[in-house]
Amino acid sequence: MSINEERGQNDLTEHSHNHSHEHGEMSELSDTELRVRSLETVLAEKGYVDSAALDAIVEAYETRIGPQNGQRVIARAWVDLDFRSKLLEDASTAVNTMGNVSPVGSHLIAVENTPKRHNMVVCTLCSCYPWEVLGLPPTWYKSAPYRSRAVLEPRAVLAEFGVTLPDQTEVRVWDSTAETRYIVLPMRPAGTEGWSEEQLAALVTRNSMIGTGLAQRPDEKTEGS
Ligand code: FE
Repeated sequence: MSINEERGQNDLTEHSHNHSHEHGEMSELSDTELRVRSLETVLAEKGYVDSAALDAIVEAYETRIGPQNGQRVIARAWVDLDFRSKLLEDASTAVNTMGNVSPVGSHLIAVENTPKRHNMVVCTLCSCYPWEVLGLPPTWYKSAPYRSRAVLEPRAVLAEFGVTLPDQTEVRVWDSTAETRYIVLPMRPAGTEGWSEEQLAALVTRNSMIGTGLAQRPDEKTEGS
């Protein structure tokens, strides 16, 4: 099954799900959501978890933590060479000195795209992902086809994302583990000299930080990342 077929299936599930609105809240929940809700109720009743604390975590991931953090990191690395080398040396420490980005754990590694090498990130085992800088992982990142094919045929996978690289560019695939998370430092688009960090951040897509997209100026966009 291709990644796009997998995407199609997810869209289908989403679509049929939307039809059940008139049946009330509980009937809209999937089996997993129901199980999570039951578990949360039991744990809260027993005093093991605080529902308010859980709500605060969910709220943080919905509002403050997302790809906007990664976008700020990449834009800074494009304009500040000292920050760039610190990021490549020790991404966790570099990100944690920024101030305007949520703190990250000690496991973050930044890998730099160049004309010679394109980096792409996968978790073959499950769905390890740098949540602090990229937010919640997209469904395709967690899908079995992406996890297996990213390693076996990275160029074919990239083509499905609309990314075609020159033959002489090596594709390096990084497999996340429980101890490591990767963020790709995409190449800064040509013709953006003098752009502000904020303008540059807007060119950084989530996919470009996973390696399944490129950072591009709006007028040169060829792929829908
Ligand atoms: Fe994983």
